[in-house]
Order: sequence, then C-alpha cells, then structure tokens
Amino acid sequence: MIKAIIDNLKGLYSLLVGLSITGRFFVSPQKTTHYPRQVDDPECLKSYRGPLELVPADDTGQSKCISCQMCVRACPGHCLTVTKGDKGKAPKVYLYDFTLCCLCAACVESCPTGAIRFSHKVYLVAPSREALHLDLLADLLARAPNPPQPKAEAEAEGEGNQVLAAPVTGEAPA
Ligand code: SF4
Ligand code: SF4
Repeated sequence: MIKAIIDNLKGLYSLLVGLSITGRFFVSPQKTTHYPRQVDDPECLKSYRGPLELVPADDTGQSKCISCQMCVRACPGHCLTVTKGDKGKAPKVYLYDFTLCCLCAACVESCPTGAIRFSHKVYLVAPSREALHLDLLADLLARAPNPPQPKAEAEAEGEGNQVLAAPVTGEAPA
C-alpha cells in the first residue's frame, strides 16, 4: 500500500516536472521559423552553405572561371563538369550535381580565381534528383543585373556562357 502511494507520488512529481518544462517553452519567445509563412533574415544565412554558385565577374553574367579544371580534379564526389569554350578561357558548360555534393569546399579552396562559392539558398527544393543537376552558367545569367540582349546571346551561342537549363533558384517565396 505504502509502496503504491510512493509510486503515485513519484509519477505525479514527474508529470509536474514535464508540464513545467512544457509551460516554460510555451510562453517563451518563438525560436523556430514557420516556413513558408515566415522566412529567415538573410543576415542570419550568411554562414549557411547552400549549393555552389559562380561568382560574377561583372554585371552581365560573365564568370571568373578560366576552365582550368582544378575544381573538377579536387572534387571527391565527381559533382562538377566544366568544358572550355571554343574561344578564350571562359567555360561553355559548367554543370554541378548537387545530389552528390557533400559541401566539403575542396572545389572552392582549389579555385585559383575565386570563381565559385557557396550560395545561401536555404529554401532550395526540387521535385526530382534530376532537378538538382544544376547549370551554374544559367544560374549566373539569371542572377545578372544586366544580362546580354537576345542578339548578343545568339552571337555568343557556342562560345560563351550557354543556357542549358532553367536554374533552381532556392530563393525565399514572395
Ligand atoms: S563542395 Fe566538395 S563535393 Fe561539393 S562540388 Fe565542391 S569539392 Fe565536390
Ligand atoms: S571554377 Fe575555378 S577551379 Fe573550377 S575550372 Fe573554373 S577557374 Fe578552374
């Protein structure tokens, strides 16, 4: 009988401790983000390692890449495909398989021109693995504030930055 009472008191004490913790967090300020109704302050994402992106050389969507293949050789996941254009050193293809990337930064650190970096795309979602096979040149052009006019794009076809696929933006929803 006494043992049963002690067990019940222990259970009641445990219940009160649990409820007090729940109550404390229930009234404390919210620390989570209710995506997609809320998004994080971009300042908070500056240290976030999202998928790679090319660093713009200017505002027209040109990259700093010289097609040296150092990043391709450094990558342990074989995520990168870089093909040099017919003229100059600019790549005509720069593909990145994000599904294989472990975000190790070996490519970023091995690049002699600082042409690649981690983006802060925390909201990246995709309907399939294939959608995460990213064309970084297309992404660079999509981000350019002053992209080439259609005529210039047609002339550059085959020798410069080609658009191979629509980029997956990973931007916060409006
Ligand atoms: S971060 Fe690492 S795994 Fe990802 S592309 Fe660069 S080298 Fe490859
Ligand atoms: S991103 Fe950098 S390391 Fe990779 S091919 Fe271009 S210049 Fe070379």
